[in-house]
Amino acid sequence: MSRIKRVPCGDVNCHLIQGEQGAILVDTGRAGYGEKLLPLCQRWDVRLIVLTHGHLDHTQNAAFLSQRLGVPIAMHRADRELLTDNDRQPLQAHRPLGKLIRNLSRKGFRDTLLPPFQPDLFLEEGDELSHFGVNARVVALPGHTAGSIGLQTEDGALLVGDALVHLFSVSPALVYADRRQMEESMEKIRSLRPTALYFGHGRPVQGL
Ligand SMILES: [Zn+2]
Ligand SMILES: [Zn+2]
Repeated sequence: MSRIKRVPCGDVNCHLIQGEQGAILVDTGRAGYGEKLLPLCQRWDVRLIVLTHGHLDHTQNAAFLSQRLGVPIAMHRADRELLTDNDRQPLQAHRPLGKLIRNLSRKGFRDTLLPPFQPDLFLEEGDELSHFGVNARVVALPGHTAGSIGLQTEDGALLVGDALVHLFSVSPALVYADRRQMEESMEKIRSLRPTALYFGHGRPVQGL
């Protein structure tokens, strides 16, 4: 059994997954939330930080937490280019709300200084994280960004990062680097029959 705790950090959710022997922190929020996350991570015995993708609202405390906890940072290789510049991948939208989010995000990309860090570990589809005390598997969910990933726990819960969002209802990413990939990832999520879904933005839901 894995226990999942959602930690709201402003408009972004970070999550803790507790396994038999330790925990994983999924995403790290925007600048300013590191001090909130640190004691929680210590209490839960976090052994790994996983970034669902390279956007700054998920990565800004990764370096701080990794250093303070003495644990590695893992992500997909295809998003490494975003760590120094979130504008390195296209950000597209077709719905009005998506266009608004895209414009706000672009402004944020330009105005925000990213603390530099290098991931310690690259994750791919099918990688198991039991080495870090948690029985969870990496699911590649490209589209929102090229290197977007999710994690599915042994009991079927799926953390999707920004591959899906839960604003008014559950929908595919409203902003994306590649629309076709994003829609394929939506279908992949359905096919995994998740028992629960946890999002980078919005409240969790049971099933899909
Ligand atoms: Zn994102
Ligand atoms: Zn986000």
